Amino acid sequence: MTVTHNPGFPRIGAQRELKRALEAYWKGDTDREALEQVGRTLRARHWAAQADAGLDLIPVGDFSWYDQVLDMSCLLGVVPPRFHHPGGNVDLDTRFRMARGRAPSGEAVAACEMTKWFDTNYHYLVPEFQSEQAFSLSSSQLFDQVAEAMALGYRVKPVITGPLSYLWLGKCKGGVFDKLELLDKLLPVYGEILQTLKEQGVEWVQIDEPILVLELPQDWKVAFESVYSRWSGNGVKRLLATYFGGLGDNLGLACRLPVEGLHIDTVRAPEQLAGVLDQLPPYKILSVGCVDGRNIWRTDLDRVLQTLGPVHERLGERLWLAPSCSLLHVPVDLETETGLPANIKNWLAFAKQKLDEITVLGRALDKGRDAVAGELTQSRAAIAARRGSTDIHREAVRKRLKAVDDTQTSRNRPYQERAPLQRSRLNLPLFPTTTIGSFPQTADIRATRRDYRRGRIDAAGYQARMKAEIADTVRRQEALGLDVLVHGEPERNDMVEYFGEQLDGFAFTDNGWVQSYGSRCVKPPIIYGDIERPAPMTVDWIRFAQSCTDRPMKGMLTGPVTMLNWSFVRDDQPRAETCAQIALALRDEVLDLEKAGIPIIQIDEAALREGLPLRKSEWDGYLGWAVNAFRLCASGVADKTQIHTHMCYSAFNDIIEAIAAMDADVITIETSRSDMELLDVFEDFAYPNEIGPGVYDIHSPNVPDVDDIVLLMEKAAQRIPPERLWINPDCGLKTRAWPEVEAALENMLAAATLLRKRVELKRKSG
Ligand code: GLN
Ligand code: ZN
Repeated sequence: MTVTHNPGFPRIGAQRELKRALEAYWKGDTDREALEQVGRTLRARHWAAQADAGLDLIPVGDFSWYDQVLDMSCLLGVVPPRFHHPGGNVDLDTRFRMARGRAPSGEAVAACEMTKWFDTNYHYLVPEFQSEQAFSLSSSQLFDQVAEAMALGYRVKPVITGPLSYLWLGKCKGGVFDKLELLDKLLPVYGEILQTLKEQGVEWVQIDEPILVLELPQDWKVAFESVYSRWSGNGVKRLLATYFGGLGDNLGLACRLPVEGLHIDTVRAPEQLAGVLDQLPPYKILSVGCVDGRNIWRTDLDRVLQTLGPVHERLGERLWLAPSCSLLHVPVDLETETGLPANIKNWLAFAKQKLDEITVLGRALDKGRDAVAGELTQSRAAIAARRGSTDIHREAVRKRLKAVDDTQTSRNRPYQERAPLQRSRLNLPLFPTTTIGSFPQTADIRATRRDYRRGRIDAAGYQARMKAEIADTVRRQEALGLDVLVHGEPERNDMVEYFGEQLDGFAFTDNGWVQSYGSRCVKPPIIYGDIERPAPMTVDWIRFAQSCTDRPMKGMLTGPVTMLNWSFVRDDQPRAETCAQIALALRDEVLDLEKAGIPIIQIDEAALREGLPLRKSEWDGYLGWAVNAFRLCASGVADKTQIHTHMCYSAFNDIIEAIAAMDADVITIETSRSDMELLDVFEDFAYPNEIGPGVYDIHSPNVPDVDDIVLLMEKAAQRIPPERLWINPDCGLKTRAWPEVEAALENMLAAATLLRKRVELKRKSG
């Protein structure tokens, strides 16, 4: 019989029950027992759902109060010294302090750093290693949950992060050393973990080693060989799990490692199956990840069966089936969706539905297709309906995209010639000041949007209320003395959703939540079809804002790459093509704004970096089409119209050439948290256009000092001529309150005045 299993199930709950329980506990509204009870209920419910779907092995250890990498750190006793952990079991509040810096008990300390989990939108807590790092079994959570699942009668497969991926994900603190040196001390604890699981009666453990899909340095490859030959597994069988890509040149290595099973992702990397089949030793089982754990589309079961048929014949019982990776990255249950159009709903599969697909595939292989004829017919019909749907395929969009040529992806003249035209039109001082777009989203604004959505106020009432808000925001900006104003984005719930809702080809779920980090979830839109813009989306608001002031108003859009990277994207055409379609739709919006007399248009690309492939060798391909999409969106305007873009991160030293190739007239970036370190890149690379290095951290409620801002800008001016520098905060202000915003901007403007005076003086004396 073909064994079916699952690398991991979403923990947050179909109605985000875990989120609510966590936040209530953190606030002090509930006690620990209430939280534990929610955890037990969710685990039991999720295990039952997986068993009901018919899986043979149920994952344990995928449930986490905050993050599974943090859980590994607790299991291995890797608690940074500042948390003063006395040794022994790491308690719940220490876990939360590591994650968030504070908890109902214990002193507040700096939280651990958080960063993106491979190329997903999930964020994990970075382990911190000291050079004298010791390891010891310091949490019973995994074992308790194994016992809990066994008591309920499930055949369990605990999941842990493997030693090499765990070390890879961590950071050295207090001195530089080779993380691989820690292996000698780390491995015995992994031995103890498996020993304990063995004593509990566990047969299989899933050891996640996703770094095997990366381009690994030679010493890490060597370490894989030595670790897995030294660490015997203590009689527990190990399924080495890889996902998010192909094994590439680690394929031979991964097949060779002396463990009992290997899991590969054949959704992201179907081409690796043949190579793995060639090199897999005869004693090993192969778990084929054949249902997409990263996206929400129904699987084409016929196609998968066509591939798996011969594999099944060849491997027999050694073939296992599973989703490509943990289902953490998709919503829980499609059944609860009531708002989706019926045809689109029929094309989708969330976590629960994906598990049904896995067990249908397993039965088809074991008992023949007739045994699941009904399921196959249904799936076939859905796939065919999607393929042929006129909701997806819009001839006009395809024609237009085909006709795009180079003239549409370039401005008429180069920046050097555009800049004087823009300067004489805008008449801005040296170091122009502006903001990134949003102003405080007060409770009142949110209530107004909610009332409108629920039909409690009509369109006219809503418009009047929002316009009053915009007028007020403009007035406040004028009073502060900002040079380039914005309308403040009160009408926007979310920078992607707002535009997606107005574009054809996007769909939205009621409950399609996916964990981003801790208790935070996002609800990505679904891009299901060709993208078209039925009507202007922002023009009325921005035109109104401009009518409130004589100062230049900056129109505000979310860019095509960010729209793409923060959505579930259709899988029936290349991402590049979908991105270009969005770019064309947004291009029309940009042109309409220009026609309405808006002199400056900002196209946010907050998520451009997030789309970078895991392998550096694939970066150029991605950056090529991503930059092109931005240019397609931005380049239709006249040279005197100024294009801005904004990016929310500082780590772009390695993609600076691509950023320059976007050819925005002005780019605003996040720099304040890295103390302008980012600007080092401009020593080697002469960024040709204008730049606004974010001068203060909007994530903190603290009001920045005038002197600090001046210092930062002077640092920037050493690398970029003052004529090309702007002054702005490092991101949008929507999460802040008005008093802090006004105090901070006042200081920012004071700094601008000071800087201008200094340059004046220098010019006079020089
Ligand atoms: N214009 C957006 C805002 O100010 C940009 C947000 C972002 O970069 N994440 O809110
Ligand atoms: Zn930002």
